[in-house]
Amino acid sequence: MTVPVTAPDVTGVDPDDDTPKEACGVFGIFAPGMPVAHLTYLGLYALQHRGQESAGMAVSDGEALTVVKDMGLVSNVFDERTLVALTGDLAIGQTRYSTTGSSTWRNAQPVYRGAEHFEFALGHNGNLVNTEQLAADAGMLPGTVTSDSDLVAELLALELASRSDMDPGEAFDEALAEVLPRLRGAFTLVLADTERIVGVRDPNGFRPLCLGRLDGGWVLASESPALDVIGAHMVREVDPGEVVVIDQTGCRSMRPFSDDVVDPKLCLFEFVYFARPDAVLYGKSVHHARVRMGEMLAAQAPVEADLVMGVPESGMPAAEGYARASGIPYGQGLVKNRYIGRTFIAPTQAMRAAAVRMKLNPLRDSTEGQRLVVVDDSIVRGTTTRAMVRMLRAAGATEVHMRVSSPPYRWPCFYGMDTGVRSELLAANLTVDEIREYLEVDSLTYLTLDRLVEATGAVGAGFCDACLTGTYPIDIPVNLSKGVLEVGDGPAAERTVAVGGNAPEAELPTDAANRLFGRG
Ligand code: SF4
Repeated sequence: MTVPVTAPDVTGVDPDDDTPKEACGVFGIFAPGMPVAHLTYLGLYALQHRGQESAGMAVSDGEALTVVKDMGLVSNVFDERTLVALTGDLAIGQTRYSTTGSSTWRNAQPVYRGAEHFEFALGHNGNLVNTEQLAADAGMLPGTVTSDSDLVAELLALELASRSDMDPGEAFDEALAEVLPRLRGAFTLVLADTERIVGVRDPNGFRPLCLGRLDGGWVLASESPALDVIGAHMVREVDPGEVVVIDQTGCRSMRPFSDDVVDPKLCLFEFVYFARPDAVLYGKSVHHARVRMGEMLAAQAPVEADLVMGVPESGMPAAEGYARASGIPYGQGLVKNRYIGRTFIAPTQAMRAAAVRMKLNPLRDSTEGQRLVVVDDSIVRGTTTRAMVRMLRAAGATEVHMRVSSPPYRWPCFYGMDTGVRSELLAANLTVDEIREYLEVDSLTYLTLDRLVEATGAVGAGFCDACLTGTYPIDIPVNLSKGVLEVGDGPAAERTVAVGGNAPEAELPTDAANRLFGRG
């Protein structure tokens, strides 16, 4: 059968196109007497996988906040000379991948606001879905703010400005209690003023945040490995809907959200792909969960084969699990170039194949004459996966059986992960059998949703699975776009995504569905 290929039409192959793009990483530390800038650098380094577009930190010496931020990786933005100059008692930091607001210096974080009576900085992981409404309600002129994080900072600054006669700490508490319940969407925040750091997790807890203890200090981090790297130990995960305030008096909690909106919905893809394998989420090891996903795939979709291999590197724990459960030997069939840039886009057809080979190259002595089981964590657009399958066949593989440790990725994410528009998602338009033909594999199986949740070990804890099911925990406004706050028609403004709230596609009239989901 000839599949009518409605698969993504991309102008180039980014070797990372078949994986979701990360959210952001946030970090905070309150540790008087310690080199907080250096420790923040290390913490951000451990969170680099969550965002590579820009990095920054804000450090307070008790008198003033100093913000250093720039485009690029943590190691590009900071050097020893910069860090030595950043002395203080507390700091926050952020690594960014843009979801609302384009990737520019202005939108790099931490975001800063200062006036005579206050100054603070803010780092954000997530994505608000009521950005436009909030800006309109506050009467902001177009261009006043350029990202959802910038908007939150502006709303807090407005509240603080109206409390100039209050104690700064009390004013900060009140401003947070006033602004946070108005936000909709995903927001894990770290904030700092001159005397305290604050950690916030939205009522759904879409993105993770953990609290750690350091000799003489406290630490906040998106993921627990950022605690490990600076010698801190994990105290606990910050609860969905909890605000943690840390100052010289210790650590205290506030709960500014009403009980009816607190509903844990941790992003399921944190377990599948985003989080580091050495992270702990809902008290469970992410690596162990990924191995279990592979074991469950083996039970769900056994096949006769000679070798199980993972797509480096995120597919490897599940491949290990598949091999263990199936009894088929585990081996390395692809070598990954670790140094290729994430934004490498090849302009021509000939270059596209080279682009994938630059990232992944088959090991012929593992693949020649072999029936392969190839395990990956997810397939977003499919372009790289198809090229990889062709390379494996060219390297002598006699059969390629694809196993994916999550269900088909059919819907865009609006809560802090960038997959582009729905029409670019391979599984949005094709059946599993059509995808199998498009990828040119002998068999293809996706792990079922219930098995995936079971593999996390946190059944019943509460997950967002909107990109797999189309059921969004928070309604999405039609025409929500990455460039919603930016003036002009730049590339960000063109990346308009449109989805009709929680209405499943099947419930929409055909015309509306085609318009909303970019077809036809
Ligand atoms: S839609 Fe998908 S990627 Fe986005 S938060 Fe939900 S589970 Fe995560």
